[in-house]
Amino acid sequence: MKISRRDFLKLTGAVAGTAALAGLGLPETAEAAAVPIQYAKEVTTICPYCSVGCGIICYVQNNKIVGAEGDPDHPINEGALCSKGSSVFNLSYIYDQQNNAIPHPGRMRKVLYRPPRADSWQEVDWEWALEQIAKRIKETRDSTFEMRDENNVVVNRTKAIAHLGSATCHNEENYLYHKMLRALGVINIDHCARL
Ligand code: SF4
Repeated sequence: MKISRRDFLKLTGAVAGTAALAGLGLPETAEAAAVPIQYAKEVTTICPYCSVGCGIICYVQNNKIVGAEGDPDHPINEGALCSKGSSVFNLSYIYDQQNNAIPHPGRMRKVLYRPPRADSWQEVDWEWALEQIAKRIKETRDSTFEMRDENNVVVNRTKAIAHLGSATCHNEENYLYHKMLRALGVINIDHCARL
């Protein structure tokens, strides 16, 4: 029988899990032996934390991530993840006292705005925030745009806007940011993982 790396890891994971339960004296029920993610849809992505770019499989059930692990078919990491990448599930969920996954309380769900010279944040709605961001980017870009530099070389750029990507933005998001920023003429672009 031909078996892929992914099948092999799933199989050995299930066997190891059952053996561990047996070692703990816990019942080896069919449910215990089953891999809990077996009914979930697999969605592949790239670890957002560093420029190694390890592949990750996210397991999704009812539009919720129920698990994440290294992608055994990915050429960079072949299924392995470092301790940071292994915790990627915890970007969205943490475990309560009963070991249930609950939404991470530290995850931002509202837009916060700190007006100039203010020392505290206030909640604002998305519509207002997006309009303000678009308006300020446009004003700044238009008033600072350079078509040619001091040597008359065509540059089509603004040096007045910089963009720093967040470590929780994945590869695909960063790709889109990059395209948008280049289209605007922004040249100061960076990301902690250099994605
Ligand atoms: S943080 Fe770890 S798992 Fe993530 S890309 Fe870097 S080495 Fe890979």
